Amino acid sequence: MNLSICTYGNPALRKKAVAVKEVDDGVRALAEEMLETMHRERGVGLAAEQVGRTECLCVIDIPVDSDIGDDGIRDNPDVEMPLVLINPKITGHTDDVQVGEEGCLSFPEIFANVERWYEIGFEYTDCAGDRQTGHGKGLLARAIQHELDHLDGILLVDRMSHVKKVALSGKLKRLAKQTKLAL
Ligand SMILES: [Zn+2]
Repeated sequence: MNLSICTYGNPALRKKAVAVKEVDDGVRALAEEMLETMHRERGVGLAAEQVGRTECLCVIDIPVDSDIGDDGIRDNPDVEMPLVLINPKITGHTDDVQVGEEGCLSFPEIFANVERWYEIGFEYTDCAGDRQTGHGKGLLARAIQHELDHLDGILLVDRMSHVKKVALSGKLKRLAKQTKLAL
């Protein structure tokens, strides 16, 4: 099955996710389809809201060559990709933040700098239904924070600076209009 991506202006993106009560075949199939869709669209993360669903679930796949810090060393060599995060939660973070450019499959061709915690602890339920803990830094930490925002109905446009939002206002308006016409 081919899932289509909800773009900015689609009310599905503002819904808050509903916790997954049981990890069954339906949830696993959705995760599988979301991974396929994300890979097809060349994204590194995708939340259920972005395909019009409300399950509290997101998928992430950071390519090895993007998992490199400023020091040239792998940020998260022990994290196996792709990640399927069911009912994920950030459990802690270090004080340091990093500003980096973010894109989003729901905002094609729009990029903006966003400040995120550099390093986080997180927990989630895996596809077997077991609760797991994890630790991520750099792009992985950024991707998790971005996807968890989606699960709360928070979007890239809410995280960018006011100046950037004004600069992009024409593009954003056109995108929202296109989205509404296609609904
Ligand atoms: Zn996004």
